[in-house]
Amino acid sequence: MTHPTEAPAVPAPIDHWIGGAPFAAVSGRTAPVRNPATGEQIATVGLATEAEVDRAVQAAEAAFPAWRALSLTRRADLMFTIRQLVRERRDEIAELITAQHGKVLSDARGEVTRGLEVIEFCCGIPHLLKGAMSEQASTGIDVYSLRQPLGVVAGITPFNFPAMVPMWMWAVALACGNTFVLKPSEKDPSVSLYTAELLRDAGVPDGVFNVVNGDKVAVDALLAHHDVAAVSFVGSTPVARYVYERATAAGKRCQAFGGAKNHMVVLPDADVEMAADAAVSAAYGSAGERCMAISMLVAVGDVADPLVAAIERRIPAVTVGDGADPASEMGPLITADHRDRVASYVANAGGEGGRVVVDGRDGADGDANGFFLAPSLIDDLEPGMAAYDDEIFGPVLGVTRVGTYEEAVALVNENPFGNGTAIFTRDGGVARQFSFAVQAGMVGINVPIPVPVAFYSFGGWKSSLFGDRHLYGTEGIDFYTHSKVVTARWPDPATSTVDLGFPQTR
Ligand code: NAD
Repeated sequence: MTHPTEAPAVPAPIDHWIGGAPFAAVSGRTAPVRNPATGEQIATVGLATEAEVDRAVQAAEAAFPAWRALSLTRRADLMFTIRQLVRERRDEIAELITAQHGKVLSDARGEVTRGLEVIEFCCGIPHLLKGAMSEQASTGIDVYSLRQPLGVVAGITPFNFPAMVPMWMWAVALACGNTFVLKPSEKDPSVSLYTAELLRDAGVPDGVFNVVNGDKVAVDALLAHHDVAAVSFVGSTPVARYVYERATAAGKRCQAFGGAKNHMVVLPDADVEMAADAAVSAAYGSAGERCMAISMLVAVGDVADPLVAAIERRIPAVTVGDGADPASEMGPLITADHRDRVASYVANAGGEGGRVVVDGRDGADGDANGFFLAPSLIDDLEPGMAAYDDEIFGPVLGVTRVGTYEEAVALVNENPFGNGTAIFTRDGGVARQFSFAVQAGMVGINVPIPVPVAFYSFGGWKSSLFGDRHLYGTEGIDFYTHSKVVTARWPDPATSTVDLGFPQTR
């Protein structure tokens, strides 16, 4: 595996992890893995063939019977060990994230911490899998419910949270007794192989957790494989829609999380300085490459001018640089192509009627070969303009101005995405009305990035989620298990008769 800080002269190969050991990629198809802060190629990832995917699924299938039969206390014990190892190795994981994703180290550590919370939640798996029992549901008959694992489940994950999003999937899936095949993003794959080593070190049996690196070929092979029972996907909306349609057509259970356009509504009574701090943090943190980033501010009434001015004042203080440098607050974007695509929205906004208040193309510091873009602020955006309609997924904050609270809620509700949203106000009644009326899966009240804690569940509405079960929390447990209800009667010769009627309660 590539060490996070020393780039080898010849880019190191990144392989798969199948059946408890590294497995050299054989397809000959590869993709470069770069350090986004320098542009340098630091590794080469092998892209799996259908046969390699099949090998991983077969390893997971072979491991399933023993894994599902392991007692709940033993599985919980393993989750505690995994939790401990992730805590001990948090910095190493964070360094790997920063080296291939580019986000600053403190943010990478935060990512690991939010994944760790879900592992901690899974330590309580004996309680979470408890069913219900009704004694004497009918005379001499007891009824009880069980939750049982699905079998081999696949996780297909995006580049922007290379540790946390997989943890949200595999921790719950494994705790429920499933075996797992992870297909991480080909842009920052190493942390997944590190995870495989960590799980092996914790004592997870061979084949329970597997990694296949790859692109659409690997994804399509997982979606078509008859031994894959369920698919969890996180990524952009077009791919999420495709994955959901293919997986469900093949008879699999699927949850496919897509993109976002998260609106932060600021009412005239809000504390402007607090709202500006929140907007800058939530728009530019991780260079805006978060599905819960705030990308649109909806300024209501006369709060708009002071709010835009307060944000404009803060932007020059955001330190953009190599994520490995502790002084940096915002790192580069993931690739040069993505940086250029994000920059094009800033370049074109003026022509559509937007007003570029801060142009991030002017102030990009850092290595000239890195994929840097400084924060941008664009005012006067409206639906119908590309910078409003599209998920830009970069450090670009748009502002739209409306006259009333009702217009603000209508904008959020008319948007095709429904991942997260937030309102900033001092009025508890209006905030309550907002959470009642707004059509999004996660709502913040004076909290700009309302990613739920691990004992609730994470997920959006509308084009931000295809499927009906959210990630982690009790919905995660539901997604990764079948429910079964047993109706039981024990022989009692004194009450036994022949009765051809339909069974009724007595
Ligand atoms: P992406 O859709 O490009 O890739 C996601 C995964 O799908 C990767 O593993 C990739 O290899 C695979 N993939 C890409 N193109 C494919 C294709 N044509 N067919 C089959 N598989 C394909 O997404 P990304 O750029 O890695 O991640 C950013 C996106 O993810 C953003 O849209 C962001 O909003 C979204 N995201 C959503 C959530 C959420 O919870 N809703 C969380 C994180 C990221």
